[in-house]
Amino acid sequence: MVTIVLAEIVTIGDELTRGEIVDTNSAYLAGQLWDRDITVRWMTSCRDDVDDMRAALTAATARADLVICSGGLGPTEDDLTVDVLAGLVGVEPVIDEVARDRMAARFALGGIAVTPIQLRQVRVPSGSRVHINNGGLAPCFEVALGGVPVICLPGVPREIFAIMDGGLGARLGELRLARGNAPAIARRIYRVFGRGESQISQACRGLIDDITGASIHYQVKFPETLVKIVVKDADRAIADERLATIDVGLRARLGEHLYGTGEDALPQVAARRFAAAGVTLATAESCTGGLLGSLITAVAGSSRYYRGGAIVYANEEKVRQLGIDPELLTAFGAVSEETARAMASCARERFGVDLAVAITGIAGPDGGTPDKPVGTVWLAVASADGVTSKRINFPGARDMVRTLAAWWGLRMLMDGVPGGA
Ligand code: ATP
Ligand code: MG
Repeated sequence: MVTIVLAEIVTIGDELTRGEIVDTNSAYLAGQLWDRDITVRWMTSCRDDVDDMRAALTAATARADLVICSGGLGPTEDDLTVDVLAGLVGVEPVIDEVARDRMAARFALGGIAVTPIQLRQVRVPSGSRVHINNGGLAPCFEVALGGVPVICLPGVPREIFAIMDGGLGARLGELRLARGNAPAIARRIYRVFGRGESQISQACRGLIDDITGASIHYQVKFPETLVKIVVKDADRAIADERLATIDVGLRARLGEHLYGTGEDALPQVAARRFAAAGVTLATAESCTGGLLGSLITAVAGSSRYYRGGAIVYANEEKVRQLGIDPELLTAFGAVSEETARAMASCARERFGVDLAVAITGIAGPDGGTPDKPVGTVWLAVASADGVTSKRINFPGARDMVRTLAAWWGLRMLMDGVPGGA
């Protein structure tokens, strides 16, 4: 018999119901639960209001096997979660000694005294199970309401990640296991850039049809798409083996558009390749205005390979900073294969690097012509082996064109690394 564990997520905060912040906590928590074979049935958001919180939590515990809640664990008067849960369980809030000591130690570093207001933040309902928060001060706590575990997390996403890694993840696995028949789960995330979700799902059609316990999920995380494969089976070895079979098929179907697996996105994957190859890089950007340089330098350690870039938006700057022949610009225009190639070669020379990438295009909404419509972008990479170039016609608005162009620049740079591609 298949056991399904049903969970509910309750997110608390006026900012949510007023539309001031987007509820990313629910999405993150739902993913974490789903990964552990726990099915989320309802997701509710409510105000920082005692009656509404009580109603939301009471309804959730009546319907679910497990309730996860976020928000309202701070020190201020609108932070009511501890008091509401204590009230529902019928216990008093108490100070968690471990959390208080951590707070005192943290404050001592800054010469700050712990005040009663701050102590509010280290309270938990008496008798709670406490999960450590390595990302902040408020402890995460778990109580049972009518036999249903209710786990309360702070609102700050970074703290939730820290708590999940610090032991809550293992606790969720334990709660799932306690319900019996927990399957082994083999899973892998595949990262795809350069193909849209519909093309990817088309390419993957039928891939898992004959594989028992397997499922495939697509998640657009612009500008890339994630393909998530999950295989469940009572036997871990069988689940792993089926995943390995799917892996082979998936790689064949996605080809070069699949650039990596796991948590690291293209900037991290490219960074590893640059560092491993010991190459030096430079960028010459027109329509992306430094976006590519920003993508590269967002990764720690980029100074090992990235020398710098030129933002050459105006034609005069293409000439002045890079030394491009003005006649070439007149003859072919700023958005042309010739200009992109010249930008890349000149940047390679001026910066004295192994690889230089150039991007020039029409981001829109104005400036398109019939043969160079909005979204036309030329990219080029210059290396010791010569110059490679590519024209892409991106769909979408200005923002999308620029982001896609910067990612393509990074992708081409990565493929230009000797032994890469
Ligand atoms: P604090 O100690 O900061 O008051 P808290 O546990 O009381 O933390 P909230 O006050 O509810 O939590 O939220 C703190 C911040 O966390 C919010 O300003 C918001 O930036 C973020 N946040 C809260 N809830 C969510 C959510 N559901 N999704 C994404 N971010 C959220
Ligand atoms: Mg708060």
